[in-house]
Amino acid sequence: VLPGTPTVLARPSSPGAPQLHRFLTLNAVEHRWVDCDADPLAGLLDAEQIGRLRLPAVVFPDGSLLEAPEHYVEVTKPPKGKHAEAVLPSLRWRTDLAERLGLPTRPRDARYDVVVAGGGPAGLAAAVSAASEGLSTLVLERFAPGGQAGTSAKIENYLGFPRGVSGAELAASAHEQALRFGAEILVGVEVLHAHPAEGDRMVVELVNGSVVAARSGVLAPGVSYRRLEAPGVHELLGAGVYYGSAPTEALLYRGREVAVVGGANSAGQAALHLAGYARSVTMVVRGEALASTMSHYLVERIETAPNIAVRTGTEVVRAEGERRLERLVVRERETAEESTLPAHALFVLIGGEPHTAGAEGWLQRDARGFLVTGPELLREGPANWPLQRDPLLLESSRPGVFIAGDVRRGSIKRVASAVGEGSMAVQLIHQYLAEN
Ligand SMILES: Cc1cc2nc3c(=O)[nH]c(=O)nc-3n(C[C@H](O)[C@H](O)[C@H](O)COP(=O)(O)OP(=O)(O)OC[C@H]3O[C@@H](n4cnc5c(N)ncnc54)[C@H](O)[C@@H]3O)c2cc1C
Repeated sequence: VLPGTPTVLARPSSPGAPQLHRFLTLNAVEHRWVDCDADPLAGLLDAEQIGRLRLPAVVFPDGSLLEAPEHYVEVTKPPKGKHAEAVLPSLRWRTDLAERLGLPTRPRDARYDVVVAGGGPAGLAAAVSAASEGLSTLVLERFAPGGQAGTSAKIENYLGFPRGVSGAELAASAHEQALRFGAEILVGVEVLHAHPAEGDRMVVELVNGSVVAARSGVLAPGVSYRRLEAPGVHELLGAGVYYGSAPTEALLYRGREVAVVGGANSAGQAALHLAGYARSVTMVVRGEALASTMSHYLVERIETAPNIAVRTGTEVVRAEGERRLERLVVRERETAEESTLPAHALFVLIGGEPHTAGAEGWLQRDARGFLVTGPELLREGPANWPLQRDPLLLESSRPGVFIAGDVRRGSIKRVASAVGEGSMAVQLIHQYLAEN
C-alpha cells in the first residue's frame, strides 16, 4: 500500500460495501481495506468511535472522512419521484467519493458536440470515433469505464484476440484510447435528467449539479442482467456460459448439447434459434409451466420442436467442467432430486432491466423499457417521429439523440455489436450535424 492511499473501514454486512469494493477495484484505485470484524488492525482502533461511524467509511490521506449515506440504496432504476428521494443520497455519495479520490467528475466545458451517457463498449467506441474525428466529446459513466464487458473474466469472441481478452484489459485499453484522442470521461457520475432545449438541442444535468449542453447525444447505458447464482457459473463465463441470447454462438454448438435457463420470450427465442444447430436444447425453467411466462406462439413452436426438451419446476444447482462447461447439475424444486445434464453451452436469459439514463418521458421506449430507434419508430406510428425525413438508423424519437448497445431495442447483446453501434452512431451524428 502506497503512502497517500485512502483507507476503507467496512464490515462485510455494511450495505454498499461490496459495491464500494467493486467501484475501487474496477477503477483501479489503490486503497487499504480494513474489515472491522476480521482485520487485526481494527483491534487497535477505537471500537467506540468505529461504532459511531456509518460504514463503509473512507479515510482520505489528509485525514478527512466520508461516511456511507444513512440508507444505502443500490441504483437499479432511474432516480424519479419517491425513488429519487431514496436513491439520490447514495448516488451523491458515489460522486463525492469519486471526486475526493481524484477521479474526474466535473466537465471542463459547458457545451459539447457529443455527450455520451454510459462508458461501456458502446459508449467508449462512440467516444473514440467522435473524439478522433474532431468532435468535442464528453462521456458520463456512473460506475467504471468498461461496463458489463469490463467485468467479464474472458471475452473470447471479440475480433483480434484469438486467445481471448479479459474484460478489464479491454476496458482499460478502450478508456486509454478514448482519452488519447481527447474525449473527456467522467467517472462515478450519473445523468440525473436530460431534456431537449431550444438552440442547444439537449441539456444534461448530472447528479453532482453540473449541467452541460450538447449538440447531439449517444445513449449507451446498457442493461442490468440478472445473474445466475450457482457455483461454477461465474468461473465458466465465456467458456461455455453466456449471458443473453445466442445469435453468433449458436454456430459454435452445431451438433452439441446446450441448455437455456429462463422461461420468458427471450429464452424461448434463444432455444428455438439454438435448436437449428444444436443436437439437443434443454430449457431449464423454474416456473411450473412455460405458458405463464411465454407467448403462446413460442410455446407451440417449442413443444413441436423435436430437439427441445423443457424441464419446468427445475433450477441449475452447479455448472461443471475442466476448462470449459461440460455438464450442469439441476434440481427439481418439488422433490429436491438432483440430476446431471450434459451441456457444452449454457445460455442464461433470466431477465434484465434496461438503464435509460434520463430518457424516460421524452424518448420512445418499448413495453420492457428498451429504446426504440430508426425505422422501427415509424412502424410504431407516425406520432413517434417529428420530422419530414425518416429517422436515421440508430436515431431515437428525438432527432440528434442516438442509441447504441444493449439498451437499444433489437440490439444483439454482445461486445462486438455494442462497439459497432457506438462507432456507427458517430457516423450518423456527422450526417445529422451536417444538416443542422
Ligand atoms: C457476465 C457477462 C458476461 C458477458 N460476456 C460476454 C462475452 O464473452 N462476449 C460478448 O461479446 N459479450 C458478453 N457479454 C455481453 C456484453 O458485455 C454486453 O453486450 C456489452 O457490454 C454491452 O455494451 P453496452 O456498452 O451497450 O452496455 P454496458 O456494457 O452495460 O455499459 C453501459 C455502461 O453505462 C453505465 N450507465 C448506466 N446508466 C448510466 C447513467 N444513467 N449515467 C451514466 N452512466 C450510466 C453503466 O455503468 C455501464 O458502465 C457479457 C455480459 C455479461 C453480463
